[in-house]
Amino acid sequence: MLILVINCGSSSVKYQVIDIKENKSLVTGIAERIGIPGSKIKQQLNGGGKFKLEKDLADHKEAIQQIFNLITDKEHGAIGDMSQISAVGHRVVHGGEKFNRAVVIDDEVLKVLESLFDLAPLHNPPNVLGIKTCQALLPHAPQVAVFDTAFHQTLPDYAYTYALPYEYYERLQIRKYGFHGTSHKYVSNRVAEILGKPIGQLKIIVCHLGNGSSITAVDQGKSVDTTMGFTPLAGVPMGTRSGDIDPAIIPFIMKKENFSAAEVSTLLNKQSGVLGISGLSSDFRDLEEAAEKGNQRAILALNTFNYSVKKAIGAFSAAMGGVDVVAFTGGIGENGIDQRRDILQNMSYLGLELDNDKNNCRGKEAIISKEGSKVLAMVVPTNEELMIAKETAELI
Ligand code: ADP
Repeated sequence: MLILVINCGSSSVKYQVIDIKENKSLVTGIAERIGIPGSKIKQQLNGGGKFKLEKDLADHKEAIQQIFNLITDKEHGAIGDMSQISAVGHRVVHGGEKFNRAVVIDDEVLKVLESLFDLAPLHNPPNVLGIKTCQALLPHAPQVAVFDTAFHQTLPDYAYTYALPYEYYERLQIRKYGFHGTSHKYVSNRVAEILGKPIGQLKIIVCHLGNGSSITAVDQGKSVDTTMGFTPLAGVPMGTRSGDIDPAIIPFIMKKENFSAAEVSTLLNKQSGVLGISGLSSDFRDLEEAAEKGNQRAILALNTFNYSVKKAIGAFSAAMGGVDVVAFTGGIGENGIDQRRDILQNMSYLGLELDNDKNNCRGKEAIISKEGSKVLAMVVPTNEELMIAKETAELI
């Protein structure tokens, strides 16, 4: 069974065709700069063959039609005909409280997704656009929505409730939702598989560390707490996002700098995080390089990030009454040897002893704690697309 996975952003569409039986991706690609001069589609076949199409793509419909042409291209494509696609799995960022699992999309579901635009104005509108376009271009294939928030719908009320007047939850749905759920679910399930233990017997802390970072406590396969919140701005500092700050700072800055709500939102989302602290870059490789040369602000940015992740691990161990595995994923979690070392140092109080030799690895599944460490540390590269494809296949 072949599943097309679509992740539709405001000016980009990422895609993969996944063969569910073989558990493998046949082709992966991205259309970029849709509606902006210089649009292109980059595609890579499983065997390694790469192809780039530079062509103006006026809108998402044209982009997705071109993607279909490329997927079925005789020379550069992976399959003969789009009718071979059994279903399309769409990444949808926000499912609000309505969806605690993936759903087959019908008119009713689309209406609910549109009613959630306020909660994720940057993400849900392009997600819905992608769904509607695929419905029009591939009418034979069921469309499935897989939500970033769904895995976190198991949070207990005391973990998702903010200490605001309760009517703000009732009237405006202000609560913690959590994000990266597909990744946290994939990684926690993979940890159980690798260890050969039922997930029902494990307490796992998943650290998804990338441009956006979130940490989740997974108790017996269920998300019980997570660092992101009402939006993906909350939690640990990120590439350009502030993460948690004293909320009083916001009106203070607005008053002092005469900033509008939109301006302060841009400051917190785009100019903060490790970029804001270092004044240098949001990319951890740049920061490591600068830190090695003694750049104090780069060192401070890295220390602030690592310290926040360490505190989240401590907090979630407390929340779950212990932890069996701390798993790292995402660009930094999978590749950041120094980050993992700094985050996990001095954790013997918890029963976690890092093995520096085993930690010297990038981008592959590995146990990186010492033999005999009571709590295991692991690296598990995430695969959100495979998870979306699996959930789509299960539903149809
Ligand atoms: P996104 O959240 O956009 O999916 P990724 O998960 O791809 O982001 O993570 C991107 C981050 O991973 C960047 O900050 C990048 O510097 C970091 N990263 C990638 N490779 C390495 C590496 N070898 N060492 C440290 N950080 C790395």
